[in-house]
Amino acid sequence: MMEWNDQVALVTGGSRGIGKAICQVLAQAGVTVFLTARDEQRAAAACAELGAARGLKLEPLVLEVSDGAAVNAAVEQILAKHSRLDILVNNAGITRDTLLMRMKNEDWDQVISTNLTGTFNCLRHVVPAMVKRRYGRIINISSVVGQMGNAGQINYVASKAGVIGITMALAREVASRNITVNAIAPGFIDTEMTAGLDEKARNALLVSVPLRRAGTPLEVAHGVKFLASQQAAYITGHVLNINGGMLMG
Ligand code: NDP
Repeated sequence: MMEWNDQVALVTGGSRGIGKAICQVLAQAGVTVFLTARDEQRAAAACAELGAARGLKLEPLVLEVSDGAAVNAAVEQILAKHSRLDILVNNAGITRDTLLMRMKNEDWDQVISTNLTGTFNCLRHVVPAMVKRRYGRIINISSVVGQMGNAGQINYVASKAGVIGITMALAREVASRNITVNAIAPGFIDTEMTAGLDEKARNALLVSVPLRRAGTPLEVAHGVKFLASQQAAYITGHVLNINGGMLMG
């Protein structure tokens, strides 16, 4: 049985919100976690805040996920140091919301290149190392809107539906190598991404949530930890809803 202590994880977008909570939960379990952000200070600050000094094995890493060469270099750096990468969490994501009629090419391109191409870049460079070691746990962060659509977000919805497609296709490709690939589809979670919503928009959203509240980043992070665990060995190609009942089935 592989212990958490032996394992190494790469979590993209760990400087705040859901990614930071994922880093926290995995590091507290004993995993060596590479926490990434686009800015060196933000990555270092998040590691310090989460308690790298208190013995948690957190390492800051600067990474722009849309840059394939940078992802390659970052993965090489991890492998040079630890010779293994057991867990990959593709969490980095952005929104550029507006209606189709007003959407600029750059709104489309930025969201697709971060959320979808960024996920591809990380998979492209991490999976070979997992295949070599015949072990891997990949968790891609999608969204409930990737399953049901949302007005004003065609770029984001396309990227998140694409992430679910990638999850199912790759799960089939690498299952024989003992690598599982799953997605999590969070609903409405309290982070900076959703902090911009005014009271009216927030209440309108909460009406569609049977549990009548927003979720917390830690509630998503615990789902990630489960899918990364040894106990989840027979789950692959699955989309885990953490959405307060917003979408069922
Ligand atoms: P935040 O905006 O709070 O955090 C986003 C993180 O992604 C930051 O750490 C940011 O790092 C990083 N990031 C953004 N762009 C890039 C990039 N190009 N390269 C590398 N890192 C990048 O978002 P949340 O925590 O709310 O969201 C996390 C994930 O969960 C996203 O994929 C989001 O789509 C998804 N999600 C969120 C929901 C919610 O309600 N909040 C609901 C459903 C899904 P930095 O800016 O420091 O570089």
